[in-house]
Amino acid sequence: MSNTDLLRPKAEHSKFWQNAHHYFDSVYQTMNLNPIWREMLSSPKRVLTVSCPVRMDDGRIQVFTGYRAQHNNARGPFKGGIRYDVGVNRDEIMALAMLQTWKNALVELPFGGAKGGVVCDPRALSMGEKERLTRRYTSEILPIIGPVHDIPAPDAGTDGQVMSWVLDTYSMMVGHQELGVVTGKPVNLGGSVGREEATGRGVMNVLRAFLATQNKTLDGARIAIQGFGNVGFHAARLLEERGALIIAVSERKSGVYNEHGVDVDHLGLYYRERGDMNDYPHGESISNEELITCNCDILIPAAMESTITEELAPQIKAHTMVEAANGPTTPEADDILRDKGITVLPDILANAGGVTVSYFEWVQGLQNFFWNAKQVQDELQKVMEGAFKAVNAKADEADCDYRTAAYTIAIGRVTEACQMKGLFP
Ligand code: NAD
Repeated sequence: MSNTDLLRPKAEHSKFWQNAHHYFDSVYQTMNLNPIWREMLSSPKRVLTVSCPVRMDDGRIQVFTGYRAQHNNARGPFKGGIRYDVGVNRDEIMALAMLQTWKNALVELPFGGAKGGVVCDPRALSMGEKERLTRRYTSEILPIIGPVHDIPAPDAGTDGQVMSWVLDTYSMMVGHQELGVVTGKPVNLGGSVGREEATGRGVMNVLRAFLATQNKTLDGARIAIQGFGNVGFHAARLLEERGALIIAVSERKSGVYNEHGVDVDHLGLYYRERGDMNDYPHGESISNEELITCNCDILIPAAMESTITEELAPQIKAHTMVEAANGPTTPEADDILRDKGITVLPDILANAGGVTVSYFEWVQGLQNFFWNAKQVQDELQKVMEGAFKAVNAKADEADCDYRTAAYTIAIGRVTEACQMKGLFP
């Protein structure tokens, strides 16, 4: 059985891996491209599963499973985040790696797509346990990462501290500091200013560019955001700064609704201190389902995949949905939203700000020459607005939705790179 047979989606594969294929296959079929590249792009080039034994604080040894999937590197080194979550599994990581290939191509970064993850609950680990797990996971995937091979970054459940341990572990193993091996590092350790907020800022840039095509602005727009971690919080903060009302916000188990708009910084502090939003005094409690279907103008899923389902989609009242999370919408829900006339700004466009500033960070690290906040913000805005403009033009030209337009551009670029390189040997 070939590698492709093993990894192409089958009934036993998770729905998310099948969904990633659904979007890829349905666009590829319409593009009149050579079928051999479709076959090749349907499975990751490489998936590594690693076992990470870690000494816990109570003396026990716990074995964690981790993955690194490298989907395609025709356009440059693999690049993609590392996720720590109890729900991590091999199919999810393969799907996220594939999405990353399209995203990097859409915003014209010289990278292929990858993703990594460890099955764990990061909130249940002490700092020491998290550090030992990160160092062990890094050393297990070390043979396939590196500044010109595969460059990890933060994703759900990981942050600048985790990236610092990745940097240090890799640097200790190769015998010198290697800034280019990982992005999302703290600024003091060779990170880029503006990386932490970059995904949220990119969401804001793309949404603003879209609203401009409708002669609208963010001023007074009523926005609901699912997920209040790195992406959700910074998107909320930057949208609020531009006059939007953040009327509802949720996290895994709790949420807040305030029709006059929540104070994002105040709620952010409350959430970070307590770990949930229960009993927040300046709003009513709201469930995740209520948030998704609440009466708002713009809905921003910024949590995890497959939260916008066919059960909830018919009740969505927003006129626009911005996919800040990766893969939040199932194909069935996507069809319903299209039929309802709801505009969806797809993940591979809307949340590409994070990897874009990661690219800036990688370039700065390789050159040891660092930019200021204004340079980062201006360059990011150029990239995001340029990508939106290209997607908008393709959607007009082909009379299709934004997801189809974005996939058409991205798949076209990746396939062209594969074709020009040809097959080795
Ligand atoms: P995070 O861990 O910082 O925050 C995740 C948030 O979502 C938390 O508030 C959590 O409570 C909430 N959440 C988790 N599961 C939920 C559920 N089922 N329902 C409602 N809320 C839930 O993660 P993040 O870095 O903000 O990433 C969020 C999403 O954005 C992920 O899909 C990630 O892949 C994507 N993304 C992240 C980046 C980045 O730079 N961090 C870049 C691009 C895309």
